[in-house]
Amino acid sequence: MAALDSGPFVWHDWLTRQDALTTYFKPKSVEQLLAFLATVPDLRKLRMRAVGSGHSTSDVARPFRLARDDKRAGIAVLLDAMELAFAETGGRWWRSDFPKELPGEKLHRVRAGMSIAELNQELAARGLAMANLGSYDGQTVIGAIATGTHGSGMATGPLADLVASIEMIAILKDPAGKPAVKHLRIEPKDGPTDPATFGAAHARGEHDLELIADLARGKAKERYAPIVQKLMGRAYYELIERDRDVLLMQIHSYVGAGIDEQARDAVRRCFARLYDLVKRESGASMAEIKHWFAHGMLHNVMAAIRAHELDEEWARALTENHEEECG
Ligand SMILES: Cc1cc2nc3c(=O)[nH]c(=O)nc-3n(C[C@H](O)[C@H](O)[C@H](O)COP(=O)(O)OP(=O)(O)OC[C@H]3O[C@@H](n4cnc5c(N)ncnc54)[C@H](O)[C@@H]3O)c2cc1C
Repeated sequence: MAALDSGPFVWHDWLTRQDALTTYFKPKSVEQLLAFLATVPDLRKLRMRAVGSGHSTSDVARPFRLARDDKRAGIAVLLDAMELAFAETGGRWWRSDFPKELPGEKLHRVRAGMSIAELNQELAARGLAMANLGSYDGQTVIGAIATGTHGSGMATGPLADLVASIEMIAILKDPAGKPAVKHLRIEPKDGPTDPATFGAAHARGEHDLELIADLARGKAKERYAPIVQKLMGRAYYELIERDRDVLLMQIHSYVGAGIDEQARDAVRRCFARLYDLVKRESGASMAEIKHWFAHGMLHNVMAAIRAHELDEEWARALTENHEEECG
């Protein structure tokens, strides 16, 4: 196994507006990352943050969550040197009939830590290209996916919408409630992986992945849905707190939709996609999804009028316990 590439590190974002003194770890392979995790005495105390190329203008990639939050000081994990796991075999476990709905679409396994520029080169070598991209190509693929990086056009989704399957190392709980490191391949229902071929390869010892398909149903739903719902609520709350322009544009779009047919169609399409996303990722019922959206809309309006700045009963009643309610 390659020597561990790690040491003291001053992380800074691309704009050099934020920095943090930390330790970096640059695994060269999944095996190396798993071997490192196996040496950690108590995974519950581990603070790690995977960072991309630092192009986010918020503090999402900062190894310290908040400047004042010293307890969360963590190791910055850089993936730009990590090889593609199962480079030879990983693409052999796809179903031959995938995808039915989009017959022209091609599957391509990519390294999470590669830049969009590198991805473009790889695709070009296969005679492929992205239909729509952002204005820039220096971000990592995973950084762009994790933050919803998008190109132009209201009907073209973010880069994350193109992801059919994702492989990830996660720390979950074992049946006894202890942290357990898992190497997962996560897909929606009818995802690209053929469970039979995948399972046979696992039985032959060709890979250590656990397939989480059909995320919104059955056992997987029981295990992950509450986490997904909570995280989506938190992420949304943080977004509207942090980026008022996005919030105000959203509210403005409803006014436009009330008077203009094209704007109405676009907003309806957005809601349809949002509904599908929440349903798919959370596995929640129709009533739960309606409840979730209703709270989201209330938070939108309260955040827009800055109700939380007022010490009046109506404002407290309508704004308090945001995070619990969103989850
Ligand atoms: C010059 C410039 C141009 C831009 N152009 C556009 C544009 O056209 N459209 C657009 O929508 N946005 C644009 N952005 C925003 C940019 O695409 C996003 O901020 C994106 O997140 C940057 O990716 P990154 O690799 O730098 O990720 P980072 O900022 O380093 O990280 C982003 C998030 O990803 C997480 N992450 C990183 N690696 C992993 C991993 N391995 N596993 C799990 N999580 C991980 C981090 O923890 C963090 O939460 C631009 C930004 C800049 C500075």
